[in-house]
Amino acid sequence: MKAARFHSKTRLLSVDDVDLPQISSNEVLLKVRAAGVCHTELHFLDGMIPISGEAMTLGHEISGEVSKVGSEVTNVRPGDRVIVNNCVPCNNCMQCFEGRENLCDNIQQLGFTIDGGFAEFVKVRSDLVVSLPQSVSFEQGAALTCGSATCYHALFDVGNLTSKDTMLINGTGGVGFSALQIAKNAGAACIAVDVVDEKLDLAKKEFGADYTINGKKENVAEKVKELTRGKGVDILLEFVGIPATMKYSMDVLSKKGRIVFVGYTSADYVVSPLNMILKEASVLSAIAYRKSNLIAVRDLTERGKLRPLVTGRYQLSQIDEPLNQLRNGTAIGRSVLVF
Ligand SMILES: [Zn+2]
Ligand SMILES: [Zn+2]
Repeated sequence: MKAARFHSKTRLLSVDDVDLPQISSNEVLLKVRAAGVCHTELHFLDGMIPISGEAMTLGHEISGEVSKVGSEVTNVRPGDRVIVNNCVPCNNCMQCFEGRENLCDNIQQLGFTIDGGFAEFVKVRSDLVVSLPQSVSFEQGAALTCGSATCYHALFDVGNLTSKDTMLINGTGGVGFSALQIAKNAGAACIAVDVVDEKLDLAKKEFGADYTINGKKENVAEKVKELTRGKGVDILLEFVGIPATMKYSMDVLSKKGRIVFVGYTSADYVVSPLNMILKEASVLSAIAYRKSNLIAVRDLTERGKLRPLVTGRYQLSQIDEPLNQLRNGTAIGRSVLVF
């Protein structure tokens, strides 16, 4: 079968011929139908995330059809439509016991540490698949996994978002659109910040942003003060993590405000402790998501409350195109590989 593999020595991604994965008794073989192309992929290519072996199949946002099941698998059958929780927890450490499987001490991750879904087939432990209703497309299903479930985790498990809160998002791409819809559905007011007017227009017209700010044209801190009558925002979701966005984070936060880092670059976050203390502000971070988050966003999508925006569909051989769009910031929504 064909698979897009990252090679650690050359730091290049190439479409290779590889063997069909062999499943064990508790695994399922999925015929991949869609796989989201995420900004994280660039971190492999740029050398920020290393892999342990010589080569690995990337792709951690996976939807597909069950093709084959191991002898002990009872939760799915061949032909079932599913999405995949790409975090593979051990289910046997304190983090797992306490429901924080995204922080599992022995975690493996499809598309990060073991072969992922940029391939015609992928093998997955059976407890990691979640059924996908007929009303939700495979493309949307793939975009739900990392793109939406990560927002849900960041907003509720980490950020403790409530209906009284005002949220600001830095970076209004595919993931940002999901964050807006999830926060609006929870009753929060939302401010979207980006430097591309087209994305800001979509954020306001289609995805519920109450206000938008173009960070290149306006002073974000001043504008936020004006919009919130001097109070600031309760929660800032940081999807970008560059100095230009991080530098105003404390200025836009309200008293008891929380910044939640989801996106990052290699740039340091520099903050004055005094500015934090005066507001009792919190700096938080969120990584990946839990299976319960994936189920929650699937249900929101089925009920029409969440629509992950998929704007690009590519064949496996065209993998460089969506990656280049992510690199130069021209991707509007999520791009997916379709099979
Ligand atoms: Zn992702
Ligand atoms: Zn564990």
